[in-house]
Amino acid sequence: MIKESFVFKEDLIEGKSEYPYLTFFKKEPFRSFVLIRDRDISSFYISKYNELVDFFSYFNKNLLKEKSLNLENVYWFLLLKKYLKMSSKEDNKELYDFIIKCEMVKENKLGFKFSPFSTQREPDIWSTYFALSCMKLLGLLDPYLLSKGHNIVRREIKNFLALHNKGNVYLHCLDKQCEICQKTTSARTIYFTLEILHLLGIDTRLSKDIFRPYLSDKKRDPEIIFKILSLKYLDLDVNVRERTIQYLTQFQKENGGFSFKKIEGRINTTFWVVYALDIYSWLLDYDPISIYPFINSKINVILNKETYRNLLRMMELSKLVILLSIIWRRFIDQIERVILKNLESDKFVDLNYIVSSFRLTYGIEDVISYINKFYTFNLRILDHHLEFTNHIRDLSPGMKAFLSDIYEKIKKEGITKLPSTKKDVKA
Ligand SMILES: [Zn+2]
Repeated sequence: MIKESFVFKEDLIEGKSEYPYLTFFKKEPFRSFVLIRDRDISSFYISKYNELVDFFSYFNKNLLKEKSLNLENVYWFLLLKKYLKMSSKEDNKELYDFIIKCEMVKENKLGFKFSPFSTQREPDIWSTYFALSCMKLLGLLDPYLLSKGHNIVRREIKNFLALHNKGNVYLHCLDKQCEICQKTTSARTIYFTLEILHLLGIDTRLSKDIFRPYLSDKKRDPEIIFKILSLKYLDLDVNVRERTIQYLTQFQKENGGFSFKKIEGRINTTFWVVYALDIYSWLLDYDPISIYPFINSKINVILNKETYRNLLRMMELSKLVILLSIIWRRFIDQIERVILKNLESDKFVDLNYIVSSFRLTYGIEDVISYINKFYTFNLRILDHHLEFTNHIRDLSPGMKAFLSDIYEKIKKEGITKLPSTKKDVKA
């Protein structure tokens, strides 16, 4: 058995390991939202697509002018580009140069710091993950890994990663004063480490034993997200129980998003929870319809405000777009089924019913607009007040007042008793 060291896929292919690894490849591997092939990215619909492209184009032009730019910004920007299917080979050189400025090499160990201007003394695993992912997204990872000769860079990164494995804790970096190290536990760092190994061409499923001790603790706290993601990466997902997934779903808030501490759902928490829920949907199905209003409303808020063209909102927008792509197929299949069934039986769709039964509290206009685009019929949202005003326009003033009175009562009380004679009508 391979226990101590990571195994490069190419070593396997060259037959250097005799273990029958082929069976491993029969299971569905981890679906990384970063490493997903462009053609496997699910398309999605959003009525404000042009505004979304405008927002992206602004950063496509101005990203490197941002004074406080760091690797995490570049990472989410490139992901936004990928999910909008706008990846191109142009301008990649400048971003690549920016990433290289974050590189730190010491005694055959190679890692990255957060930004070229960062004063950190030691490179860290999170930044290294962002840097290598960015290179991958730019299509420049392979040339980078070969830049010092066959496997040298990969081995230097592997040496760097190994230093952070302290047996009972997996460190973010080696600086004893580091705030991130003090505030976080190992789970997220392990998840990033697994992604790095994957980027280096190492099959992490053959290295279960190295990480298992960090992931066996089933304590229920927000860290569980990165634990279960890592377990899936290591092909140990059969150890995850349904109640762990249920634990995560209980943090969904009124606005459809998720948060562990706040009353309202937060974009970052929602991103990681829904990503994990989607990865584990084979174990427990999740409800995309109640999540959609959160995504749709937050995207609209960001696109509507000119002042929101900043790095923080750009990263949020990127997360929301990725989420939309992840849930879209599931969401639209379910909502289409409900709407078409309604149309078949009643010839109309009761939006109030859909909104209240499915918690589709926001974004119904986008759903209608999507359906109108892709079906031969045309749905129209009726504004009751407008329709009513149209109907009574040509009536006598007395009749108008009479009907308006009833209309207001119905609106207020839901149902009203009709007056028996016209005498009851106040003119
Ligand atoms: Zn640290």
